[in-house]
Amino acid sequence: MELAYRDITYCKNVGAKRADILRQELGVKTALDLLQQYPYKYIDRSRFYRIDEVEDEDTYVQIKGQIMDWKTVGIGKAQRLTARFTDGVSVVELVWFKGVQYVKLQAGMTYLLFGKPSKFNHQFNFVHPDLTPWSKVTPEMTQGLEPYYNTTEKMKKTGLNSKAMRQIIAGLLPDLRAGVPDTMGMDVLQRYHLMGLTEALISVHFPTNTPSMQRARERLKFEELFYIQLQLLRQMKRREQNAGLVMPIVGSRFHMLYRSLPFALTGAQQRVIREIHGDLKSGHQMNRLLQGDVGSGKTLVALLCCLLAVDNGYQTCIMAPTEILANQHYETLKAFLEPLANHVNIALLTGSTTKKQREPIHEGLLDGSIDILIGTHALLEDTVQWRNLGLVVVDEQHRFGVAQRAKLWNKSHSDVYPHILVMTATPIPRTLAMTVYGDLRVSVIDELPPGRKPVQTLHYSLERRASTYQFIRKQINEGRQIYVVYPLIQESEKSDLQNLENGFNEFCEAFPEYRISMVHGKMKAKDKDEQMMRFQRGETQILVATTVIEVGVNVPNASVMIIENAERFGLSQLHQLRGRVGRGADQSYCLLLTKTELSKNTRERMDIMVATNDGFRIADADLKLRGPGDLDGTAQSGVPFELHIANLSTDGLLIERARQAAQEIIDRDPLLEDEYNRIYKRRLDILRTESQLWTGIS
Ligand code: ADP
Ligand code: MG
Repeated sequence: MELAYRDITYCKNVGAKRADILRQELGVKTALDLLQQYPYKYIDRSRFYRIDEVEDEDTYVQIKGQIMDWKTVGIGKAQRLTARFTDGVSVVELVWFKGVQYVKLQAGMTYLLFGKPSKFNHQFNFVHPDLTPWSKVTPEMTQGLEPYYNTTEKMKKTGLNSKAMRQIIAGLLPDLRAGVPDTMGMDVLQRYHLMGLTEALISVHFPTNTPSMQRARERLKFEELFYIQLQLLRQMKRREQNAGLVMPIVGSRFHMLYRSLPFALTGAQQRVIREIHGDLKSGHQMNRLLQGDVGSGKTLVALLCCLLAVDNGYQTCIMAPTEILANQHYETLKAFLEPLANHVNIALLTGSTTKKQREPIHEGLLDGSIDILIGTHALLEDTVQWRNLGLVVVDEQHRFGVAQRAKLWNKSHSDVYPHILVMTATPIPRTLAMTVYGDLRVSVIDELPPGRKPVQTLHYSLERRASTYQFIRKQINEGRQIYVVYPLIQESEKSDLQNLENGFNEFCEAFPEYRISMVHGKMKAKDKDEQMMRFQRGETQILVATTVIEVGVNVPNASVMIIENAERFGLSQLHQLRGRVGRGADQSYCLLLTKTELSKNTRERMDIMVATNDGFRIADADLKLRGPGDLDGTAQSGVPFELHIANLSTDGLLIERARQAAQEIIDRDPLLEDEYNRIYKRRLDILRTESQLWTGIS
C-alpha cells in the first residue's frame, strides 16, 4: 500500500497505543507522515575521539577504551558511582548518580563509550555515558550519522524517545528501498540538480555520510518551499485574472489634497502611487504590499490612494491592528483632509464605538455617504455592510492573519472583489517577504522625506544609569519628551509587569519634578488611551511603557527613546521602537540599555543598531543572527503549508531558487493545466487538503 495511505497503527514497532500518542503529540497519522518527521540533528558515529581531543561540552563523542577501576560513595539515594576510563593515553572520569545498582562494570575490559562531556572542576567528565562492551559493538553502531528526532515530554514518558522513533522509522526502510513515487517532476529535479525522493528519504533518515545527508535535506527543503511558492504564485495569477473594479480617473479630491500639502511628495511616494494607480485602472483586482520604513510616509500614500478610489465613486476603508492606531490614523487623516472637509466624509469604527454611534455609521456605509472608514477588526463584523467598497487598506499587516485577509475579500456583495493594499513598516528581508507576502505584488518606499535628522543611537550598560538620568534631564529641560520602554515577552508574565512597575517607581523617584505616565497591555483600553493622550498633549514628560507603543504612535516632540533590557528585544522590534522618535525637527536619540555581560550575539545586535538606521539592513542582520526556528509566529501564519524541514529564516537561498522554479512553471502554465504539470497540480491539491485539516485541528 502506498505509504501516504498506510495508518501508522500498522507500521512495525508502533501498535495502537503508540499510534494514539503519535497522532496526538505530532499529528502523525500515516507512514508518510512518519517519514516527514525529519531528524533535527545528527551525531557522527564514524569518528572515534581520543580523550585529549575532547574540547567541547556540547558535542557527543565516542571513545574506545578500558575501565581502570571504580568506586561507589554514599548510600541510598545519595549513592554515586565513579569510574576511571582510559584510552591508553589519558584518563577521564565517568559518573553515575542514578540507577547505580544497574551499572555493571568490569575492570580491564574494553568498551565503546558514547556520551556528552561535561566540565567539573575544570576537567571533563562523562555523566551517565552509554557503555557497550566492545565485543557487542556491531558495525552499524559506528557507521555514519545517527539521526536525532524531536519528541515531546509526553512521548518520552511512554518510552517514545528519539531512539524509539529511529526504530519505528527503520521499520519503513524496506518500503523505501522498494521505491516511493516522486513528488517532484523530472524537469525540476534535473534543472535544479536535486536528489530523487526515494534516495532523499533514505539518506535523511539513514545517512552514511554528511554530503549525501545534506543533499537529501536540500532536496526535501526545496520541495517544501517549491510547493509554497507554487501555491502563492498560482493564487496571485488567479487573482490577477479576477475582474477588478476599474478606477481610471485621477479626480478633483486627489488633486485638492495634493495641492494642499505643505511639502512635496518624495520620489518614492510618487512612484508607488503610480504603481497603485496602474493597478486600480487595470481592470484586475489589486493585491499589493506597500513596504516602507517607519516614517517614510505610507499613511499619506494610503490616503491619496483612497481619494483615487473615492473620486471614482467608491468607498474605502483603512484597517489598523489596534484601537490606538486606528484613532491616530483617524486624527491624522482628518487633519490632512481639513481643506477637503466638504468633499470627503471620513468616519471611525472601533471596538469602543458605542451602539448609538454605530447606527449613523452603518447607515452612512450603506447609503454611500461615508467615503473613508478607519477602524480595527471591528470593520470585519458582519453588521458592517457597504454600498460599494472599492479599496481596502490593511495597515501593519503582520499582525493580521491570512484568514482575516480572506474575510475582507469576501466582504463585497458583487462578484468583483475590492482592491487590497497591505501596508507594513516591518522591513522584512526579500526572501521572507517572498513567502509571507508571496501572493502580493510589492511596492517599496525606499526614501525618507527630506530634512530628517537620523536618530542617534547609543548603547549604555547599566552602570551608566547616572549619566542616562543626566541626559534625560537635559533633554526635558530643553522641552523634549522621553519614552522609556520595557520588554514584555508575554503580556501575562508577572515578572515583566513587576519590572515595568519598578522602573516606573524608579523614574518617579529620580525625577520628582516631572510628570510621568505609564501604559501597558494589562490596562483597560480606556486608561491606556487616557495615559497616551496625556503624553501626546505634552502634559507628561516621560512615558514609561511596554511595547504597546511599538507601532504607529506619533508624538513629534518626543525625541528620546530609552529601551530598557534592550538585549531582550528582537532587532526589528528595536528598529520599530526607534522609529517612534526622530519625527520632529530636533536631533533625536535612542538609548539602548543592557546589562554589562553580553553574549557575542547580543553584542553584535546592539552594534548593528548603533551602526545603521537602515531598516532593510537590520532586517537582514536580524534573520542571520536569530537562531533557526526563531521566526515569530505571526510571520509563519502567512505561510500556506506546514514546514517540516525548511526554515524560513535560514534557507533564503533555497527560497529564491524554489520561487524561480515555481515561477518558470506558472509563467508557462498559470493554472497548471498541462499534462506534464499534473504531478504538481495533484500534489498541491493534497497539500491544500492536508493544511486545511491541519489548521482545523490546531
Ligand atoms: P509611516 O506611516 O510610513 O511610518 P507616516 O505616514 O506616519 O510614515 O509619515 C511620517 C511623517 O512624515 C508624518 O508626519 C507625515 O505627515 C510626514 N510626511 C509624509 N510624507 C512626507 C513628505 N513627502 N515630506 C515631508 N513629510 C512627509
Ligand atoms: Mg504609519
